[in-house]
Amino acid sequence: MYDLAIIGGGPAASAAAVYAARKLLKTLLITDTFGGQSVVSADIENWIGTQKISGEELAKNLEAHVRAYAGTVVDIMKGEKVKSISSEDGHFHLMTEKGKSLPAKTVLVASGGNRKKLEVPGAKEFDNKGVTYCASCDGPLFSDQDVVVVGGGNAGFETAAQLLAYCKSVTLLQRGQAFAADPTTVEKVLAHPNMRGVLNAETLEVIGEKFVTGLRYKNSMTGEEHALSISGVFVEIGMVASTQFVDGLVDMDQYKRIIVDARAQRTSMDGIWAAGDCTNGLYHQNNIAAGDAVKALEDIYIYLKTR
Ligand SMILES: Cc1cc2nc3c(=O)[nH]c(=O)nc-3n(C[C@H](O)[C@H](O)[C@H](O)COP(=O)(O)OP(=O)(O)OC[C@H]3O[C@@H](n4cnc5c(N)ncnc54)[C@H](O)[C@@H]3O)c2cc1C
Repeated sequence: MYDLAIIGGGPAASAAAVYAARKLLKTLLITDTFGGQSVVSADIENWIGTQKISGEELAKNLEAHVRAYAGTVVDIMKGEKVKSISSEDGHFHLMTEKGKSLPAKTVLVASGGNRKKLEVPGAKEFDNKGVTYCASCDGPLFSDQDVVVVGGGNAGFETAAQLLAYCKSVTLLQRGQAFAADPTTVEKVLAHPNMRGVLNAETLEVIGEKFVTGLRYKNSMTGEEHALSISGVFVEIGMVASTQFVDGLVDMDQYKRIIVDARAQRTSMDGIWAAGDCTNGLYHQNNIAAGDAVKALEDIYIYLKTR
């Protein structure tokens, strides 16, 4: 019986595993891969304490840090995914996709998620060649350039606001008839002289040669097509949380993100915590995921020792 099972191998799960090891909790970390979503980034420039690191290097560092404790108090199961979790007699059973059943007194879900991809011609071809899914990571690369943000919700407007600090112009394309972000944010961001918001704009194609040079969209009301000369496309059309395996066990919001108590990362189910991008936390970044997981670990430790 493990004291704690951690699900995931991104910054949240890795931070949790290091803290669990140092607190001598008998821990199992189950993950498909190490590193998490930013593994595809060429340069991460905001991982605190490290000026610049590639996503791949960050993944190696996270895995090495966790492995430093392997075999003592932490067991690592890599290349495995949790399929479901059941609760029984005050503890949990994790079922893996390869058919293992693993018992644990507590669970930390740190299974993150994936950004919804833009599904139009050119979007895949120019991924990381002008098409990007993270403004705080890649925004500065587009200094003094014209860019597009696809998506008119809060994430789209926050992305636009960040980009206005460096870019020559930002055009935000929203598919629907109204912007979905908070009205005050919409008003503030659209008031910037270098900002333009377009409604009923259906993205048709990302154009480029080696890198992005343009984007085509259609006005879905009039059918009129438009072409923009831009060098960056920032996609903010939502995230899909990897939480299917706890569906029905813990409360989730409408986007299937686990609802947590922000003070200690507790979920609605006693004995289960969640941290990072799989939660309904407002902001999602590597440092936040790691910090939230550490917060959860402090709480899990107290929970286990005072039961
Ligand atoms: C392209 C891109 C670039 C980014 N760049 C930056 C950046 O520069 N700086 C920054 O701060 N943030 C960046 N972000 C955001 C950042 O990557 C996330 O906020 C962060 O990765 C969240 O960490 P996490 O540990 O919660 O989840 P994730 O990173 O999503 O990790 C989840 C982990 O869980 C595993 N997993 C999923 N399901 C299961 C399962 N059922 N069983 C077992 N394991 C499972 C996955 O294999 C993965 O290892 C970027 C995001 C993207 C998409």
